[in-house]
Amino acid sequence: MTTEGIDRSWACNVFVIKHVKAATNLRKRHPFFLKFLKLGFTILLFMPVMTKGKHFIFECSCCGVQSGFGTQLMYLCNACSKDNKSGEPPRGVMKVLYDYHRLRHKPKPFKYLKNRGFIDLLPISSLSSLPPLRTGRTPLYTFNKLDGKLLPAPLHIKDDSQNPTWSFKDRASALVSAFAAEHGLSTIVVASTGNAGSSMAGICASMKQRAVVVLPDSAPEAKLRQVVMYGAKALPIKGTYDQAFELSIELSNQFGWYNRNTAYNPLTIEGKKTVSFELFDQLPELLNGPVFVPVGDGVILSGVYKGFDELKSLGVITEVPKVVAVQAAQSDNLVRNLHQPDFISIRSTTIADSISVDAPRNFYMARQFIHAFDGDAITVSDNDILQASALLAQNTGLFAEPAAAAAFAGFLSYLHGNKLRPGDNPVVLLTGSGLKDLKSIAKGLTLPESVHPDFRSVERTLEKSGYL
Ligand SMILES: [Zn+2]
Repeated sequence: MTTEGIDRSWACNVFVIKHVKAATNLRKRHPFFLKFLKLGFTILLFMPVMTKGKHFIFECSCCGVQSGFGTQLMYLCNACSKDNKSGEPPRGVMKVLYDYHRLRHKPKPFKYLKNRGFIDLLPISSLSSLPPLRTGRTPLYTFNKLDGKLLPAPLHIKDDSQNPTWSFKDRASALVSAFAAEHGLSTIVVASTGNAGSSMAGICASMKQRAVVVLPDSAPEAKLRQVVMYGAKALPIKGTYDQAFELSIELSNQFGWYNRNTAYNPLTIEGKKTVSFELFDQLPELLNGPVFVPVGDGVILSGVYKGFDELKSLGVITEVPKVVAVQAAQSDNLVRNLHQPDFISIRSTTIADSISVDAPRNFYMARQFIHAFDGDAITVSDNDILQASALLAQNTGLFAEPAAAAAFAGFLSYLHGNKLRPGDNPVVLLTGSGLKDLKSIAKGLTLPESVHPDFRSVERTLEKSGYL
């Protein structure tokens, strides 16, 4: 179910309006009964006004049950999540739905939404609740050549390393922070492999909110330092991301802190979907994909799909572009299990820490989207990632962290496998800056030795290296 349920509730109000007139005509014959009836109708008619600002509901992505008109705090579906086990992808991740029926009938829906900052498709009451830091609205670059060779299709790169804390995660953190601000929630806790934590810490600093970040002590040092620098409470644990995830939920339950965990909090998907609105805005006539997305938990992938799906529901686009989920071969728990009856987890060992996940937290929703829209799912080796990272930096000037370079490696895999079709407009999502994880990059990079500071010594070094 997507928009039908909401359509029904609005249709109910139309039904009520039509029958108020008939009821009025009967007033003289049955005065007391109709007085009661009128009161009931009045309440129904004014429901949209009474729920002003509560323009969204939650729907379970597993059982389809809807709950919570508006502002209530919502994590997983109670019924579906009761049998969730540690180490397995959780069931019961919620989706946020809006009044698509009303929006679809605007003369120019996308223009209307854009002019209003997409507030109609966000689960907050006011854009003024968002952090003061510019989040999203990142550049899209187009390249026609790689290594001097003309590409069969122009390559578009969405550079989300230009977000406030240099990663895509800021899109989710900004929305979670705004929701917390609107509901008086002053402390936000998050489990992270690094980027979500440093993002939440930075966004919270800008909003004068408290952030608590639980992360494995194997997280890249730059990301941990970011968390500390922003003044957040950093809790590195001697354990995995999945253990950090469980621990952060316990902290939430015990102390009443708002939880930002990816997918567990459905607002993370809502924040991430905004990239799809921007891509349509930047490539209005050319958005047919394939769109290469790095995948760990499957939340960015689901966000990208949900954004496209909403544009389709509103009649803005006729087809959802092809999306390619790219995982590291050494952390392929989402891709490998897509067609398996039972989920089997294999311990992740990839250098791409941001997508190193044993139990993808949004596995079931991501799988639904991939199957529904005929998406592709591929893996790339760590060596492919390192080579792609260098190729990207040297050809474009964009320095991506390994997880982001994985998406570019996915594009290269399509390019070299001749899988790009005429008319394609490939898009690569660059989700994080290379400066966030220099240690991983160092494995594929040899730094030069220093030379004596005189001209002859420098000239000899240049000749020896074949540069002259
Ligand atoms: Zn459910």
